[in-house]
Amino acid sequence: MLLGRAFETAGRTTLSPWLCGGFSGMALAASRVGRLIGLELDAELDAVDAVLPIVLRTPRGYELLTGVCGIGLYLVERLPRPYTTHLLARVTQYLRESSERSRVGRFWPAGDGARRNHYRLGMAHGAAGVVAFLATFIHVGRRDAAAVELLDEAVRGLLAHRSSSVADPSCFPDIVQPGRYGRGNRLTWCWGDLGIALALAAAGRATANAEWTGVAVVVAEEAASFRPNVKLACLCHGTAGIAHQFRRMFDLTARDAFREAALYWYERTLDLCDQGTDVAVPARTVGTSLVLSGAIGVGLALLAAVSAHEPMWDFMLLGDVSP
Ligand SMILES: [Zn+2]
Repeated sequence: MLLGRAFETAGRTTLSPWLCGGFSGMALAASRVGRLIGLELDAELDAVDAVLPIVLRTPRGYELLTGVCGIGLYLVERLPRPYTTHLLARVTQYLRESSERSRVGRFWPAGDGARRNHYRLGMAHGAAGVVAFLATFIHVGRRDAAAVELLDEAVRGLLAHRSSSVADPSCFPDIVQPGRYGRGNRLTWCWGDLGIALALAAAGRATANAEWTGVAVVVAEEAASFRPNVKLACLCHGTAGIAHQFRRMFDLTARDAFREAALYWYERTLDLCDQGTDVAVPARTVGTSLVLSGAIGVGLALLAAVSAHEPMWDFMLLGDVSP
């Protein structure tokens, strides 16, 4: 009933097509819930699918949250319907067209016009989102040759920016542009090393590339020993998200360092929740995205910590790297 009301409301509202705050994200979440409780949603989801060829005719932006990668992730959810193959081919074509290629790999410039002179590396808005999307497409769908080639170039482009200095505050910068090398952050999903580690782990799993998985483990291990005072609990860049990402790295590797880090950050999440909802998830961020920045995401991460069920929801964040 609540899902039906959500689709009714969406039908009366002007929504963007994106994964974050748009109808692709809503449809992906509904599809996952439908599968979980055995609810038939084909009519509603077919109506969403019918709009996507128009959106993909002139797409804007490659990124996961507000770009083509997020729409592609929803299409992966809709495999193996016949039209998804054609639309996913359009997604990979756009990813190729919107990128630059050099001898070290492929890069996605951000910005518009003269300001199109920088590169973002994180999961939410950068190259790691492309890597994780392509890896998921290959892992869940089929070994699409164009996606495999693009993934190889995207991973090489991402690894080309890996820091070689122990003085840097993170393994990867968040932004690279002439005259500026972003500081990055070890622990965030959106812009930081943990999101990049998950993307590399997904790439390693999809292509059975032990070297990429090895880099993912090293990057996540460096983050595991880092214990700053994080003041938010959200999935995107807060304690619950950090805990859940270490839990996923533990699922993949069974390493004690990831289990201990996950437990530490779950405890910090409970500490923040004890101080009140306004502290853990300030009201100004709740409205922007209930899952990424709000209390619902914190609840999902805590439920996943104590449940024997596979957390199906983190497919939306490209966070599922379990074997
Ligand atoms: Zn964030």
